[in-house]
Amino acid sequence: MLKEIISLIYPHVCLSCAEPLRKYDQNICLKCKSHLPKTKFSQRIENPVVKLLWGKAHIEHASSAFYFKKGNRIQKLMHQLKYKGKKELGEELGALMARELKCSTIYNKIDAIIPLPLHKSKLRLRGYNQCDPIAKGLSEQLRVDVLNHSVKRKHANTSQTNKGHYERHKNVENIFEVCNPKELNGRNILLIDDVITTGSTIAACARAINKISSAKVYVSTLAAVI
Ligand SMILES: [Zn+2]
Repeated sequence: MLKEIISLIYPHVCLSCAEPLRKYDQNICLKCKSHLPKTKFSQRIENPVVKLLWGKAHIEHASSAFYFKKGNRIQKLMHQLKYKGKKELGEELGALMARELKCSTIYNKIDAIIPLPLHKSKLRLRGYNQCDPIAKGLSEQLRVDVLNHSVKRKHANTSQTNKGHYERHKNVENIFEVCNPKELNGRNILLIDDVITTGSTIAACARAINKISSAKVYVSTLAAVI
């Protein structure tokens, strides 16, 4: 009874298009799910995300599952995840991201997932790391562990948008540190983030992991501004 009253006051709607959801939908309706702007980058040896990270870190492969554009379905969903606290949506998006990675043999070897860490000041401000629910959804589908405490963010980087290439590079240098090197030994790590723009932050984190010579780094983000 209470559940019915609640659903009358707060109808269960798609977090992308706001249309009512069917019984078996989680957070995204079937129509939005089938029209998500897929990149298919995971299936291409060379793709714009690989190129974006060229020369910035030793990375086996890099990809993004979806295109991020102002007003598109992914942008709307990511807004709900990042600013409206919709963690279950993050898990569903992580599962959709896993489906894209499973289309590719390149990601077969992954045996650990590391969500790009937030600095503790930002974590306090936002309440949670939006990459954590994405990592959870990925981990359930790919059946690999999430390593939440092996890499630390030592500094919060300031906005990158008004800086030149060199300043951006300097700004992110040494902001990440591996605090549990043993855990990363010999692993094929999937480093994930919600969105990639310049790639400099995720590359800085990859470089920190590169210090463990037996660890291999793969990068994948939910979305790409490309
Ligand atoms: Zn929808």
